[in-house]
Amino acid sequence: MDFLPNIARTDKTLFDAMKSELKRQRSYIEMIPSENFTSLAVLEANGSVLTNKYSEGYPGKRYYGGNQFIDVVEDLARERAKKLFGVPNVNVQPYSGSPANFAVYSALCKPGDVIMGQNLQDGGHLTHGFTASMTGQFFKSVPYHVKPDGYLDIDEVRRLAVANKPKLIWVGSTAYTREFPFEEFGEIADETGAYLAADTSHISGLIVAGVHKSPVEYVHIVTTTTHKTLRGPRGAMIMVTDKGLKKDPELADKIDKAVFPGLQGGPHDNAVAGIAIALDEASKPAFKEYAKQIVKNAKALAEGLSKRGLKLVTGGTENHMILIDLTPFGKGKGIFVQEGLDAAGIVVNKNTIPQDPSSPFYPSGIRLGTPAMTTRGLKEPEMEQIAGFISEVVEQVKGYDLPEDKEQRSEALKKFRKDLAANKAIASIRERTLALCSRFPLYPELGNT
Ligand SMILES: *Cc1c(COP(=O)(O)O)cnc(C)c1O
Repeated sequence: MDFLPNIARTDKTLFDAMKSELKRQRSYIEMIPSENFTSLAVLEANGSVLTNKYSEGYPGKRYYGGNQFIDVVEDLARERAKKLFGVPNVNVQPYSGSPANFAVYSALCKPGDVIMGQNLQDGGHLTHGFTASMTGQFFKSVPYHVKPDGYLDIDEVRRLAVANKPKLIWVGSTAYTREFPFEEFGEIADETGAYLAADTSHISGLIVAGVHKSPVEYVHIVTTTTHKTLRGPRGAMIMVTDKGLKKDPELADKIDKAVFPGLQGGPHDNAVAGIAIALDEASKPAFKEYAKQIVKNAKALAEGLSKRGLKLVTGGTENHMILIDLTPFGKGKGIFVQEGLDAAGIVVNKNTIPQDPSSPFYPSGIRLGTPAMTTRGLKEPEMEQIAGFISEVVEQVKGYDLPEDKEQRSEALKKFRKDLAANKAIASIRERTLALCSRFPLYPELGNT
């Protein structure tokens, strides 16, 4: 199969960038926990003729003609999701995770209503009421936190919910390495009359495979992106549970109306088809094995890092993710480790840690995840090897500091980057990460780059 033969012919500049991106994905150890490598079938759906169609509305109730086959596609996605997650209602049209969460707000809340979510520094998502997100400006956000040991402070959640009577509580996060106490959140929502929404974006693949407990029994709504552990195209779903319909029989209808016409126009039918494929793939025994291996790999990586003296938030992991706390080396070290790892062929993201002494742009942690490399076939022995690479890189860069002064800061970063390019130890790790990647080919069907 030729790689993008038509783009190659019509748009050389764009083709070169896309070919380089494929090469980058193949030759780097991808450890950003929100990323994954979809199947070729999902890629095919995403690049298909379905992108040409307008289909505002829902199956059987469209505003435009010619939707008889799009209805089949969307129904397939909805039915597969209902079955896989065990819920009575699913909306597969949200363009991505953030718009899905906005739809939940617009279905349930009025501007100024009290909402609760996990504080951003403590691992919460922007859309759960952070000030920089519109969700923190339209609503009165009361964030809850993790304890000094890194685990959610469920007593604080209860205290804040009783005192503030929120309309909506979120449970779910982008940087939390432990199982969520969905049952306790469910009790708190019942006691205070709040709607409870689980945002399972990061862990939905683990949930459908049965390696993380499901929130469905305890919450009214579940939102999830489809492109993280679920390994589908970029997109999202909003599910209404039986508990949700019991609290509010109109809930599914409110969600559907909030998505369209409330916030969106025509759905991305190419993405909806990709979601249908991903859901089918996720229902197979091979996916269960995959999800189990994601967690095994994360635990092996956590052990390898701890063994080498690196400090992890909560001391380890129960899911696909690890947070390294770099404060033993000083504050704001995330950028040096991220860039050092990139130069060594390992892609991660710097991340805030609970009670971060630095800022979100220069945080003191590193977030790592195993879903993408598990898709490529890596197992525990390779995780042990990667832990060694990461620890070597930290050794190389931990002495660099970020000056407070802005001008000095950019000078310091410039010098750091120059040093990195000349660092022989980093170059030697890069050779080893390249060798590791070449043992686990990615998309061989797409040919050579
Ligand atoms: C990734 C993520 C989102 C947002 O998804 P986008 O597709 O990037 O908009 C929302 N909530 C959580 C918990 C996430 O991890």
